[in-house]
Amino acid sequence: MASQESERTEIERLDREYTLGTWTRQRDFDPTEIVDTEGPRIVTVDGDSILDFSSQYVCTSLGYDAERIADAVNEQIRSVPYVNPGWATEPRARLSEKLAEITPGSLKKTFYSTSGTEANEAAFKIARSYTGKHKILSRYRSYHGATAASLSASGDPRRVAQGPEIQPEVPGMVKGPDPYAYGSSLDPEQSLEYIDEMLTLEGDTVAGVLVEPLVGSNGVLTPPDDYLPRLQEIAHDHGALLICDEVMTGFGRTGEWFASGLYDAEPDIITMAKGLTGSYQPLAATTVTEEIATHLEDTLLNQGHTFAGHPTACAAGVAAIETYEQEGLLENAREMGAYLKSELESLAERHPSVGERRGIGLHQGLELTRSEEKRVPFEQRSDKVSGRTTVLDEVGAHALDNDVYFYTSVNTIVVTPPLTITEAHVDEAIDALDDALEISDAAMEE
Ligand code: PLP
Repeated sequence: MASQESERTEIERLDREYTLGTWTRQRDFDPTEIVDTEGPRIVTVDGDSILDFSSQYVCTSLGYDAERIADAVNEQIRSVPYVNPGWATEPRARLSEKLAEITPGSLKKTFYSTSGTEANEAAFKIARSYTGKHKILSRYRSYHGATAASLSASGDPRRVAQGPEIQPEVPGMVKGPDPYAYGSSLDPEQSLEYIDEMLTLEGDTVAGVLVEPLVGSNGVLTPPDDYLPRLQEIAHDHGALLICDEVMTGFGRTGEWFASGLYDAEPDIITMAKGLTGSYQPLAATTVTEEIATHLEDTLLNQGHTFAGHPTACAAGVAAIETYEQEGLLENAREMGAYLKSELESLAERHPSVGERRGIGLHQGLELTRSEEKRVPFEQRSDKVSGRTTVLDEVGAHALDNDVYFYTSVNTIVVTPPLTITEAHVDEAIDALDDALEISDAAMEE
């Protein structure tokens, strides 16, 4: 809720006055000052300690007290704070070696950048170089980034928020259907057949099929187990690479290092960011197979950034991976994920406005419905860009009043806490959600 000017702190006033907020009309940009963190909680200037069940943008997977990362970053700043990407540094070399170890299949070499968006842009260039083709096939219910090409590859409502005059789409981006049995007219099997046909009809000009293995902000869509291996087969039959965008699902969120590992798929390229450093530093990566790396031995990799492989960010990455390993956080994601799933299932039984629970591990979501029978959403995709307050927003705001923060997106309450949580945290979040869902129950059609 927008606070009155007179109630804002000095920092809130300055921030409001001199910072442009992301993805919003500026009159709606009225952020609350955060002054501290504790475990999986953020603390406001008014002293409210808020349990973070979103991991912000599904990125603070280690919570807020990973000392090892703070130490590693400090040490690196004092030794080699920065050199350009033409030099070798220990944190970059160690991180690349580690990524080769934890990524599935024969993924081996890594290109670095600073955001998930750039990681996907690099994947497009590499796929085009390797296949000699230019199109990218992605899906409608997806988000892959904010720049021209990555937003054009996204089906997210933000792609069409401003119309073609202001926001023209990059050519060569083709979109297919999603594995979304609950809300789509095609079942996942039919959606795969459709993609197969599309690749044929595009005349096999597609360089890469880009998917979030488990969709994030566009509804936590969870495919059947055989979906991803089948998609990989279909892509390869048409001479296209399988690119898995694991910006949200990477680094243990589903209980595996990468969600593609859940499904026995071996992507040709994986893109990652967020959990790579637990978001203690901005860092993103595009990891490719040995075969693609061999192709790049004699072909120009025509991409780079000043901050590619930034030493302090890579030091944070190495320390983050050690933290996931030494604190058993993948196991915890599996255990807490199973507990969270059963608690969400019983919420779904108690609240008629919960249409479906989806997700795996600590990547879960509840899709709400205005009318269970007709599967009618409360929130239209266009609401996201119109600035209208929806029932979903009200549910989220009510939970926040009870000091639990959930990310709501495209008619879904996204439930993605840090991997460090305990059962007591789950209970606290479920209580807040139980209360908040009374709002959506009351708003249902008769
Ligand atoms: N890909 C996915 C699946 C994402 O969820 C996001 C961001 O939320 C991105 C890409 C873009 O990442 P960034 O915001 O770091 O540019």
